[in-house]
Amino acid sequence: MITLGEGDTPLLPAPRLSGRLGVEVFLKWEGANPTGSFKDRGMALAVSRALERGATGVVCASTGNTAASCAAYAARAGMRAVVVVSAGAVARGKLAQARALGAEVVQVAGTFTEAFRKADELAESRDLVVVNSTNPDRIEGQSSAAREVVEQLGRVPDILALPYGGGGNTVAYAVGFGERLPRFVLGEAESRADTFASAIRIVEPVHRLEVGGVLKRSGGTCVPLSERQLEEAWRLIARDEGVFCEPASAAGVAAVAASVTAAGQTVVCVLTGHGLKDPDATGRLAA
Ligand SMILES: *Cc1c(COP(=O)(O)O)cnc(C)c1O
Repeated sequence: MITLGEGDTPLLPAPRLSGRLGVEVFLKWEGANPTGSFKDRGMALAVSRALERGATGVVCASTGNTAASCAAYAARAGMRAVVVVSAGAVARGKLAQARALGAEVVQVAGTFTEAFRKADELAESRDLVVVNSTNPDRIEGQSSAAREVVEQLGRVPDILALPYGGGGNTVAYAVGFGERLPRFVLGEAESRADTFASAIRIVEPVHRLEVGGVLKRSGGTCVPLSERQLEEAWRLIARDEGVFCEPASAAGVAAVAASVTAAGQTVVCVLTGHGLKDPDATGRLAA
């Protein structure tokens, strides 16, 4: 197994946020993973399985964190990594990680969907394994987070809140919880094409149908969020609780704040990535 010590991240009580929102909030701090995002859980398994099957290289399309994670685990495995990103759309810290870790960075002029198509092409022409969340090993690896939450909390929470980009993480949590799902509250950018929360700047979520199924089964909801709502939740997580996550990670908290929730419910908000990934966004926090 190729590992960098991913998982076993803290579940932090959030007393001030709880007071504000009238529910009992816990923060699942996924920025504590080796490359600073939850992607490491799935990447560890996907790269391990690719190596087991004799692959010599992996490829992914990414809004940044998948690229950083892919680069790290491929280096650890002694494999080649090619990461495809949409030019100008990736936070500085993430690009720095991918480059420092030795990945070949391919930039395409176009959206994440175009990057995805290019990654598929490269997989074919250069005989690389695709390690996007369309790879079932990614989902299986990421599902560990749900089991951790249940173990740390001692039960299934009433609500699980998380950002919705492509939807892979939503699907993975649903798999991890199994039969007993919490109510899923998803936060997505109202303006998916150009949100400042670059990790969820995805116009066509690849797991849309499965996410619809999870929402239906769990009695959940998906809340479109304005830039202002994302920014405000991001600020509160930092200032109220001392946790510096990246902007997209605030979407779960923002979605809970924007939706009607019965008082006293237990809410786990997944903070998907570390704030240091995106230093340029912090200008918005200055005030
Ligand atoms: C990948 C990512 C997301 C979106 O997750 P999906 O599985 O695409 O829905 C959210 N936040 C961060 C920090 C991410 O890296």
